[in-house]
Amino acid sequence: MTTPAEPTYARRADRMRASEIRELLKLLERPGIISFAGGIPDPNLFPVARVSRAYAEILGEATTAAAALQYSTSEGYAPLRAWIADDMRRLGVAATPANILVTSGSQQGLEFLGKLFLDPGDTALVTAPTYLGALQAFAAYEPRYAVLKPGDAASPTQMRDTASAAGGRIKFAYLVPDFANPTGETLSLRQRHDVLDLAAGLDIPVIEDAAYAALRFEGEDQPCMQALDVAARGSLNASRVIYCGTFSKTLTPGLRVGWICASEAIIRRLVLIKQAGDLNSSLINQMIMHRLATDDFAGQVTRARQHYRTRRDAMIAALEALQIPGLSWTKPEGGLFIWVTLPDGLEGAGLLERCVAEANVAFVPGAAFFTDGTGRNTVRLSYSLPSEDAIRTGIAKFGDIVRSSV
Ligand code: PMP
Repeated sequence: MTTPAEPTYARRADRMRASEIRELLKLLERPGIISFAGGIPDPNLFPVARVSRAYAEILGEATTAAAALQYSTSEGYAPLRAWIADDMRRLGVAATPANILVTSGSQQGLEFLGKLFLDPGDTALVTAPTYLGALQAFAAYEPRYAVLKPGDAASPTQMRDTASAAGGRIKFAYLVPDFANPTGETLSLRQRHDVLDLAAGLDIPVIEDAAYAALRFEGEDQPCMQALDVAARGSLNASRVIYCGTFSKTLTPGLRVGWICASEAIIRRLVLIKQAGDLNSSLINQMIMHRLATDDFAGQVTRARQHYRTRRDAMIAALEALQIPGLSWTKPEGGLFIWVTLPDGLEGAGLLERCVAEANVAFVPGAAFFTDGTGRNTVRLSYSLPSEDAIRTGIAKFGDIVRSSV
């Protein structure tokens, strides 16, 4: 039997490739693997009993059950939007529910923003490295990328000229200012202002991906970029910052609840995209998330911070113990990731192959997070899933393979 020829797909389908990371996640299924690969929240932190009780409460009452299992508004569950707006006010952003769109995870928010802003050939400014999932979300809209270097950018005129020579316009800057995926690094206040100044010079929106922002273990809180911009411009409706938030890293990713906080004009546009995309996010999941958030959001965040802090400490100590010349790493003040630069001549991809085959240890080669083929001598390590013991064992084995590869 011959394999039937595939139909002719749209051009955008060619740009949508299986991500190296998704492929890597399959490695997690290998027996005994110590995986530093995915940035996956530890299921030990999931509020399972509370979720179970909340479903029972909602479904146990006929009227609530009927509403919970029905279609609902594209904007999102009103009490949840109100809770999120309050939480944004806590961060210094004077939001009302009209500034909030509930999305199916912040990933959906990124995809919607690609759809809203990008025409083929337009330029998106992204840091190098950047969150791979954002590149995937934008890919279907056929952008080109230019590197966003906070505090060290070409002049807006020069950047604009390059974008127009490439057949489009600069449409937005995207970044993860706090405990970034993949580097674990956080932008200083100065760098935040630099990005906002650049965006003002280019007259473009800034997409602030705050996926890890709540997970600070130590150091000084930095204001979110949206709060800085709102303060400078007088109101959220005048702000150029679009904030993508999520409950995935603090409560649970499984209910798929995230949000976008932005000017009402942008939210109105996004609501149309949401309607066309999936009509609405699961109402029952939004109701559950609302209950989880109102019950004990602060307590849950505190538990998550303590938990991941202990794991970060274990990983940093294990890396220090290796004493390998030329091996260096970031020391994140929060989040789930450490970014490692390998000794000269070593490449992340080759090292991964050896680590998996010889030591049953996995991580993500750093090159996956660059748009320009650089970063080959880097790797991303996540400390979110393995126990402290597994972290010590896995990093020691990783060190053995690095030593024998140099
Ligand atoms: N942004 C960043 C930087 C992420 O790391 C992730 C998840 N890996 C997301 C967004 C998407 O998360 P979710 O859709 O679960 O909110």
